[in-house]
Amino acid sequence: MTFVITQGCCDDASCVSVCPVQCIRPRPGDPDFKTTEQLYIDPATCIDCGACMDECPVNAIYPEWDLPDQHSEFLEINSDYFAMNPNAVCSPPQSPTRSLPAERPSLSVAVVGTGPAGCYAATELSDINGVTVSIFDRLPTPFGLVRSGVAPDHAATKQITKRFNGLFSRPNVQAYLNVEVGRDINVSELLEHHHAVIWAVGASDDRKLGITGEDLPGCVSAREFVAWYNGHPDAVDHRYDLESKRVVVIGNGNVAVDVARLLARPVGSLARTDAADHAIEAFRASAVEEVVVTARRGPESAAYTTGEMVGLRHVDGVQLAVHEDEVNDAVASSPLVARTVGRIFQPATSGQDRTITFRYGLTPCAINGDERVRSVTFRRPDGTNEEIETGLVIRAIGFRGRRVDGLPFDERAGVVPNVAGSVHDPETGEPVVGVYCTGWIKRGATGVIGTNKVDSAETIGSLLSDFAAGRLPTPVGGQDILAALLHERKPDLVDGEGWQRIDRAERKAGRKARRPRQKLVTIAELLAASRRE
Ligand code: NAP
Repeated sequence: MTFVITQGCCDDASCVSVCPVQCIRPRPGDPDFKTTEQLYIDPATCIDCGACMDECPVNAIYPEWDLPDQHSEFLEINSDYFAMNPNAVCSPPQSPTRSLPAERPSLSVAVVGTGPAGCYAATELSDINGVTVSIFDRLPTPFGLVRSGVAPDHAATKQITKRFNGLFSRPNVQAYLNVEVGRDINVSELLEHHHAVIWAVGASDDRKLGITGEDLPGCVSAREFVAWYNGHPDAVDHRYDLESKRVVVIGNGNVAVDVARLLARPVGSLARTDAADHAIEAFRASAVEEVVVTARRGPESAAYTTGEMVGLRHVDGVQLAVHEDEVNDAVASSPLVARTVGRIFQPATSGQDRTITFRYGLTPCAINGDERVRSVTFRRPDGTNEEIETGLVIRAIGFRGRRVDGLPFDERAGVVPNVAGSVHDPETGEPVVGVYCTGWIKRGATGVIGTNKVDSAETIGSLLSDFAAGRLPTPVGGQDILAALLHERKPDLVDGEGWQRIDRAERKAGRKARRPRQKLVTIAELLAASRRE
């Protein structure tokens, strides 16, 4: 008997350190850890103890005997990894014990951004004796993309917030939500009150296609669309044309898969999630019959992960389709692709009401229309063009970071330039003293939630070694002065207790409708809930 890791794996490797026989691969430090789609359990070594299942923050691990039907393929997916990587070299697991040097017993750090990267960093830092942490977010709510990016029908993935929530009751952590660093206070002011600042703001801009018609009404970014259905306050007033029978999604990463699934799945199942009420109403009235997900390369280069696609195949009311001529070559040349394609695209079943069609080898060249989008022209590998009619085009081609005043920025990569998380000025090659970064703003928009745990550990390693070597000046202002300054500038800032009040209000409202929570979606509603009770 073995345990099995399934679709929702967050990759944060919590399970790895508790496994008594070290049968979970890849581990942090292994060559493929940073690129793996998920972690895998070796059925030949697993001793069936269940420690990994208890530790998994997203409930993605099951005993073989209790594997839900929709995850049945994952038994084979786990064992396939070991069949295909017989020589996987594993380095010893990394579990550094952190402490401050005896001659410098207290350290204060500001973490800007409360998405997964910021929360992992703040958690690891506040575990260390003598460290105090201030956490900042421009919204009144924490958790970044876990709240406003992870799809509402991936409830298990959102369970990670239960762990992160512990931060808000730690005595050495002070939360300043609804405070925008760069507007309400700047980085150099934060450095007057802390030894170091960790920039963990994610990637809040989109990659651009750079083709005609990209700015027409009806051509939107997946980032905005996802924010809208997840109730992000910035997206409350957005409107999308769901009257079109066909939607075209450009790109085939996991964000494209999320967007396609949300557009295609029957609304009844969404009504039990924490999707924003305005989105549920719009999906209920939707006329969409087909979502076409387009990739410029073949299935062998697809950016989606197998786990997400297998999950997609099990969504009731959704039919997956493919044009055989677009996958045949890849299937013939690679047994691995053949297996993945075979797993995903099963024969049609009757009675399905919406189709997601996966197209390959289509490079977008123009978005056509006069006042709004009418169609997209793609170039095929043989040099011919194909025009696909649609009223809504969603660009899911990836995210990039945004520049902020006072920090260097790499425009090409869309990240803050850094060496192992220590921010460096590319013009001088010197470190920016006391400033660090982690997450998507550090490495670009790649990886899943747990990837940020290892990433943040690296940044904290750099910060602690600078602190131990005396390279971080002692802050001139104390925490009390900072708190007074922020309350004066932002009387409506939300602290940890304020967030707990919002959280309770949303969960209480959700309980009546048997939903995990009913999100408050405007800043005014959120601030009111943060004060009430
Ligand atoms: P992504 O994985 O980088 O995929 C981007 C897609 O856009 C690729 O298919 C890419 O094609 C395509 N693309 C880029 N430029 C293009 C262009 N000019 N024209 C046409 N296509 C273009 O990005 P993402 O989907 O936004 O995901 C970001 C990260 O979040 C990923 O690491 C993803 O796994 C993660 N994520 C995970 C989950 C989950 O685990 N459930 C959910 C959402 C997001 P090429 O490959 O040809 O460049």
